[in-house]
Amino acid sequence: MRVLSGIQPTGRPHWGNYFGAVRQYIALQHAEQAFYFIADLHALTTVHNPQTLRQLTLDLALDLLGLGLDPARATLFVQSDVPEVSELCWLLMTVAPMGLLERCHAYKDKKAKGVPADAGLFTYPVLQAADILGYDSDTVPVGEDQVQHIEVCRDLAGSFNHRYGDVFVMPRAKVLDASARVPGLDGEKMSKSYGNALELFEDPSAQRKKIMRIPTDSRPLEAPKDPADDVLYQLYALVASEADRAAMEALYRRGGFGYGDVKKALAEAAATYFAEARTRRDAWAARPDDVRDVLRIGAERAREKAAAVLQRAKSACGVGRG
Ligand code: ATP
Ligand code: MG
Repeated sequence: MRVLSGIQPTGRPHWGNYFGAVRQYIALQHAEQAFYFIADLHALTTVHNPQTLRQLTLDLALDLLGLGLDPARATLFVQSDVPEVSELCWLLMTVAPMGLLERCHAYKDKKAKGVPADAGLFTYPVLQAADILGYDSDTVPVGEDQVQHIEVCRDLAGSFNHRYGDVFVMPRAKVLDASARVPGLDGEKMSKSYGNALELFEDPSAQRKKIMRIPTDSRPLEAPKDPADDVLYQLYALVASEADRAAMEALYRRGGFGYGDVKKALAEAAATYFAEARTRRDAWAARPDDVRDVLRIGAERAREKAAAVLQRAKSACGVGRG
């Protein structure tokens, strides 16, 4: 299995990132190839302050290491450290139909939210395809929101292969059923950029306050409630032990409980669940030179692979002097 996935330094990572994607990164880091990158070029469509982008990039490296990414097994690197992928992006741009990109929801959604769209946002799925195809990846662990982009990647790989021969490996998205789309505090997809997130490493008491402020419905205390359509329950199920989750589910079905108690239980379970990651992150944060080394070595390994794939693609389509 050759695994690859990326995460954008567009803000602090949240539960959706962990339960949808990063948890899979860690479970798959023993694969023959496990490449994980911090997508700073992608983030440039959202973050426009250079100091902020640099800081978020380094912080995200710490976060991933804290969560359990093991640099002895997985290759962790920063996207922009591998310029070969940007060149590959151009080759793929020439097989990317406008109509296909117009249908991509990251672009459509941001446009609908009134975010002015630039060509970077519009062609984002092509750079993402280069990220994946540039490392001969066959498995891409992601949340549900990325499945469409992986389909685009497959389309582009198929078109390029059709035109120039068997150049790219066909990748597949890998999505976890139980946490493919973690809801945010407003019930929409939890996102770094929508202000609806529970961050992975925010101070537990600040997080508790945030949880206590989650709006709940006004159904009477004694009414039984369906846990499936309650955000608090869905979040609780992610961080509680199986026994506690089952007990909470029974409580919902029985009725006669207050949301305040659920919120307290949620805050407590979250603090416990992420305590170990917090300690590990602190340990990495105390060794910034080691973190830089991890990223430098990761970039070297990633570049070596991407250079070979780029060369294969260039020869196939006749670019360069051969
Ligand atoms: P942004 O709002 O800037 O797009 P994001 O929160 O969507 O940020 P990304 O960096 O775009 O995060 O995505 C990183 C990974 O996390 C992707 O694999 C994505 O599918 C996954 N992911 C993001 N949000 C969720 C969510 N709410 N539930 C499950 N997976 C998610
Ligand atoms: Mg996203």
